[in-house]
Amino acid sequence: MTKLSGQAFSLEFFPPRDDAAQTRLTESAQALAAINPGYVSVTFGAGGTTREGTMETVRHLKSMGFDAAPHLSCIGSTRQQLRDLLDQYKAAGVRRIVALRGDLPSGMGAAGGSDMLRYAVELVQLIREHSGDWFHIEVAAYPEMHPQAAGPQADLRHFAQKIQAGASSAITQYFYNADAYFDFVDRAQMLGVAVPIVPGIMPITNYSQLMRFSEMCGAEIPRWIRLRLAEFGDDRESIRAFGTDVVTEMCQTLLENQVPGLHFYTLNNAAATMAIWRGLSG
Ligand code: FAD
Repeated sequence: MTKLSGQAFSLEFFPPRDDAAQTRLTESAQALAAINPGYVSVTFGAGGTTREGTMETVRHLKSMGFDAAPHLSCIGSTRQQLRDLLDQYKAAGVRRIVALRGDLPSGMGAAGGSDMLRYAVELVQLIREHSGDWFHIEVAAYPEMHPQAAGPQADLRHFAQKIQAGASSAITQYFYNADAYFDFVDRAQMLGVAVPIVPGIMPITNYSQLMRFSEMCGAEIPRWIRLRLAEFGDDRESIRAFGTDVVTEMCQTLLENQVPGLHFYTLNNAAATMAIWRGLSG
């Protein structure tokens, strides 16, 4: 088994909030260049980051030599605002977009107004209508089901609709149970989905942060992993060492089963992703 070629790995970053975070992002991206990613992506309005930061960070990563793709979520923006952003990205030479619905900040009701989009499928349609085939469109997939979905099959059908609307490939929510991913891909193929579905990989470095993220996004932390992490308490080094072992082993299993690639949620931290990448047998 050899390591996948660099084309198959991708890395996700978020826009830095201040100068110190900007320096950390630049240093992390420099270190992670060793992975030779096919592209890097930049989140949009996630975790309280500003939306303007996405464009700036995409430009910055492009200037460092990466093929950089913005995430674009449709909730809370008008169609015209989205079209304007698409034009700006096209003018900046961006060829790939990660198209999402996004989430409203807690406490805010459903986005109002007839000009607002409700689901990511409508954003995929808008991108294809407005920009034709200019962009490669990535969409999100949920092997363990999106937390607001009525059920796994309904969620899968909604996923398939995004592909039918013109999405080019998909990145999954993170998971620590490879069988959930394989089952999802099998069921998607049975619905006629033929595009690559790339596993999203979340390194484990911080127990409370992981529990918080997972609670929000509906990713399951298997009981045995949760118990081991809880037992380490404040021993961050042991958490990182155990997390690296668990995630590297899962990535190895995924690669041996010919997944189309791996998308790392780096959280702007090179060390955790590099440790996993180095551990993959090549
Ligand atoms: P959708 O595909 O629209 O699905 C959302 C829910 O609606 C699902 O439950 C689905 O089953 C349901 N649904 C879809 N269509 C219909 C329909 N016609 N009728 C009824 N129900 C329907 N968030 C950010 O804010 N910024 C980011 O940068 C960001 N990046 C992400 C990257 C990845 C790889 C992933 C996996 C998630 C990311 N998210 C981000 C989180 C994402 O925005 C949330 O998970 C959001 O709640 C759903 O987005 P979606 O694009 O999957 O939505």
